[in-house]
Amino acid sequence: MTNDEFTSRAHQLVDWMGKYLRNVEQYPVKSTSKPGEIFSSLPAMPPLEGEDFDDIFRDFKEIIMPGITHWQSPDFFAYFPANSSPPSILAEMLTATLGAQCMIWETSPAAAELEERVMNWLRDSMGLPREFEGVIQDTASTAGLAAMLTAREKISGDKINEEGFSGQPVYRVYASTQTHSSIEKDVKIAGFGRRNLVKINVDEKDFSLDPVKLEKAVKEDIEKGYVPCCVIATVGTTGTVAIDPLKEIGEICSKYNIWLHVDAALAGTALLLPEYSWMIEGKEYIDSFVFNPHKWMFTNFDCSAYFVRDAGRLIRTFEILPEYLKTRTRGEVNDYRDWGIPLGRRFRALKLWFVIRSYGLEGLREKIRDHISYASWLAGQVNKHPEFELLAPVSLNTVCFRFRPKGKNEDELNVINEKLNHLLNDTGSIYLTHTKINGKYSLRMVTSQTNVKLDNVKKAWSLITTMKDDL
Ligand SMILES: *Cc1c(COP(=O)(O)O)cnc(C)c1O
Repeated sequence: MTNDEFTSRAHQLVDWMGKYLRNVEQYPVKSTSKPGEIFSSLPAMPPLEGEDFDDIFRDFKEIIMPGITHWQSPDFFAYFPANSSPPSILAEMLTATLGAQCMIWETSPAAAELEERVMNWLRDSMGLPREFEGVIQDTASTAGLAAMLTAREKISGDKINEEGFSGQPVYRVYASTQTHSSIEKDVKIAGFGRRNLVKINVDEKDFSLDPVKLEKAVKEDIEKGYVPCCVIATVGTTGTVAIDPLKEIGEICSKYNIWLHVDAALAGTALLLPEYSWMIEGKEYIDSFVFNPHKWMFTNFDCSAYFVRDAGRLIRTFEILPEYLKTRTRGEVNDYRDWGIPLGRRFRALKLWFVIRSYGLEGLREKIRDHISYASWLAGQVNKHPEFELLAPVSLNTVCFRFRPKGKNEDELNVINEKLNHLLNDTGSIYLTHTKINGKYSLRMVTSQTNVKLDNVKKAWSLITTMKDDL
């Protein structure tokens, strides 16, 4: 492709992108593609000769687009959002064009220094402790792993990196039963062993970790000869957005010398609102903290903001220094390859910078407050309706509820609600997913897509209350 052709194709694609975003509501939100359908419509062998771009782009539209679920549709209420926004998309275009591999300061000083600056912006705007330093990771899963590895090296006096686990005591990791599945994965990868992840029961009403049960488990473990290493507290669990009580948990961690990692993947964004600073009361106890701008802060996946109290500890856990990576600036600048697992790094700070500058803190806050108000509106409707009920307290942007017609037992209600969920998604008008709460099948709506408006939520509620009659 010549440079002239590249430029004209780029214009063509940008036109398509603008149109797509303008009309995104007209696509079925959830792809209706059947398993194997797209795979079998792709040729078994790659082309020998280069193909015309028109053909490639036509196939993108005809073969690929039907298999896309439209996460940027304002009618997307499923999972947690993976939001983008126009400034973020534009920055991603520049990042792709520069194609810089930003593993160390020398391989693009601007990437390293912009990352340092925007992470400080976020830290200060969210009310995180001033001594924290931040680094962008790909995902919260990776950040959780980085936290566990660092905690592991701290408690073993950097022995496990050197010698492995042999001769070590058995270390324990604690998290609530509502913790994200990535924590279990991280525990496996970090070498603790899944059996050493201790799941602590939650409060019956709000599903937050019960600190009394945590302390009891820690004490019992110590008596048995285990060594408590790390607690993962969640600010905004994936099921119901429960907020674990950080202060009480932090006091326990401090008393028993345990690393405290806070997983605020979704809910962290709400810390931009001063009225939610209570969520990190006890922040003086936090060792590491992660939230995902790629969820609720309008920044394209992937972009996970990881903050640590002791950056030196993090670096000591990960750094290795082969000859070819030795530079004259080492020690003077941040070489972020030492702050995480991969060597190679994308220039992710650019999109974050574009987003924060383009909306401004007040613009971001306004959107987040709107999203929270839509969830309260929906909760109000559920409460008012004689045949629906909330299954968890509504926290921030997520509403867990079910259809509860009279005279049905729990098993029947589960079947009915699962069926309702599928019927709703099959319309293509909205997309929502479910969770199980104490064995009850719960519909779950997250009102936080970048462009969602109250009208979208109203339309969804009206569809839900109409479709229940089709069951
Ligand atoms: C989404 C989520 C994760 C995982 O996020 P990734 O960035 O996809 O790894 C972890 N914890 C919580 C609480 C989440 O909501």
